[in-house]
Amino acid sequence: MERSTIVRVHEGLHARPATRFVKLAKGFESDVELVKDGKAVSAKSSVKLMLLAVKENQEVTVRANGADAIEAIEALIGYLENPRAGLDDEGSPPSEDAASRSVAAPPAESAPEAITGLRGVAASEGFAIGPAFAHFPPDIAGQGRTLQAEEITGEIDRFRAAVGTVQARMDRALTQDSLSAGDRGIVAALRDIAADDSLTGEAERLIKGGNDAVSAVITAASTIAADFSAVDDHYLNARADDVHAVGRQICLVLLGQDDVSLENIPEGAILIADDIGAWDLARAPLKRIGGVVCGHGGATSHIAIIARSHGIPAVLGLGDQINALRTARDVALDGNSGRVIIDPNAATRAEFAARVEAAAKERAGLTVFKTVTPTLADGRIIEVAANIGSLEEIDAAQEAGAMGVGLFRTELLFMRHMHLPSEDMQAETYTALAKAFAPYPVIVRTLDIGGDKPIAGIEFPDEENPFLGWRGIRMCLDRPDIFKRQLRALLRAAVQGNIKVMLPMVADIDEVRRTRVLVAECEAELDAEGVPHAAFDLGVMIETPAAVLIAPALAREVAFFSIGTNDLTQYIMAADRLNPTVAKLNDVTNPAVMAAIELTAKAGVAAGIMVGMCGEAAGRPDLISTFVKMGLTEFSMSPASIQRAKKTIMDIAAES
Ligand code: PEP
Ligand code: MG
Repeated sequence: MERSTIVRVHEGLHARPATRFVKLAKGFESDVELVKDGKAVSAKSSVKLMLLAVKENQEVTVRANGADAIEAIEALIGYLENPRAGLDDEGSPPSEDAASRSVAAPPAESAPEAITGLRGVAASEGFAIGPAFAHFPPDIAGQGRTLQAEEITGEIDRFRAAVGTVQARMDRALTQDSLSAGDRGIVAALRDIAADDSLTGEAERLIKGGNDAVSAVITAASTIAADFSAVDDHYLNARADDVHAVGRQICLVLLGQDDVSLENIPEGAILIADDIGAWDLARAPLKRIGGVVCGHGGATSHIAIIARSHGIPAVLGLGDQINALRTARDVALDGNSGRVIIDPNAATRAEFAARVEAAAKERAGLTVFKTVTPTLADGRIIEVAANIGSLEEIDAAQEAGAMGVGLFRTELLFMRHMHLPSEDMQAETYTALAKAFAPYPVIVRTLDIGGDKPIAGIEFPDEENPFLGWRGIRMCLDRPDIFKRQLRALLRAAVQGNIKVMLPMVADIDEVRRTRVLVAECEAELDAEGVPHAAFDLGVMIETPAAVLIAPALAREVAFFSIGTNDLTQYIMAADRLNPTVAKLNDVTNPAVMAAIELTAKAGVAAGIMVGMCGEAAGRPDLISTFVKMGLTEFSMSPASIQRAKKTIMDIAAES
């Protein structure tokens, strides 16, 4: 028997969701398969499941055959439709959670001109300098000998015992309290690969064909890793490294060797490696590691995730350049720009040491502001909120002490997927946000996208000047099918918390009025369908010169303003925000831009509506005081800037 459904697992059946799905499937006696696009794989193999590359919002079929087929289908379909109700014993879900819990470093200041160095992927922010700890374990080679027929059974036994040993080690690691929830999930995913019959089955097949166990494991791991590399998905590509890491562990046991250990890494050392298995890194004394530099890896690799979640600056993906670091004595790295400097001279050394110390001191001194509610001498509360773009960033925002979300950029939701996100999926996302921050507000910005950032499902025209073209509210009003889906989802989510909605790129008051008509239509539809919904405050971003000039009229029609200084600066100054040649003009402190901000604030204050700011300038301690004097009462910024901004406001209050 079989049943089909649309997958609602956020990000699809990647490592951990696949692990959970397999765990559920293994609880049933029946043979269970998952089918996508006519291809069926065993639901009891996480590797096969991952390689099926099932993405969110895709249709799949669960097929079961056996005594408990009905129950199996029920449970597995239930998980695919509502993953949160599924198993939850592998620690906190997605790795991306951990990814967002990075320890903030101060904004990147460019390294001195004189410094030259290597450049890789800036995978985990922050500065580090310290002694190099080169970790280049020797490659493992198979014996390359053909087994005699009578040796084969013994070799298979040896291989199975080695797999058992590796699994047992990983199981033991999972019981250690010292392992963070994120790392536990990663180790659990590796253990799953070790237990999966895709790898073990392929290796056994090769041994039966006369290969020695080590050669068989190396070949099997390469085959499966190549399958992962071939999938059109960055996250799954990174799983190829995991397969190699597991293969290596099995080989080491077969050879009776210990892996080169990271246990003795000195305090503050910079770990240099071509590749570090997530398994090795998760077990390493992470507190002692000052930074990580690797030849392999990218921003979504497990190494990056672990580094970010532990606040370890990392530069990955250096490729062959890593060989230049094999003999380095000391290394300085800038995880914000991806720069690595070998054996830095005294000046660089001093500069990096100062940056590291300053960042640590500042971080430590600011943590007390996490729970502070910034209040001015006259009793006015200034809200310091977070700019985020995905649910994975909620933790980081809350960790920093965000008083809600001042800008939820919904573009990522649309760009991450192969299809336009469904109303249900959007409603779930906005609801999760509203619940996470209630009673604080969550300001969701409606889709702000144009031809420079194409997304699946929307055909953008070729435009000479996409920044002056069919984007933001303009595109949404022309595509009510897309816009209404988002508005309906927001109305539904508003039942669950304090949702506010903000329109981007507004230049004409008619855009607000037409949006209100669509909102009313959505409300009527939801009423007729009996779907619970609630009204939300509607505001606008002030980021075009036109919006500034009609601010008094706009203020009479909306509940709040949020000044988008990034676009406002480029449009006021007619200086492309992405063009380095005009970067000098692209300056928010230019009197023209400051005058536009002041005009906006005046109009908002006169109309009695909230005036906030969500462009980059909102997080600048040198400007906050001026903006507060203009009448702004809300500042939204990247979580890393929140505590510093709260302190700045408290300093203003103390001085007045
Ligand atoms: C802005 O323009 O200031 C803003 C916050 O929006 P974005 O950077 O997403 O365009
Ligand atoms: Mg903008």
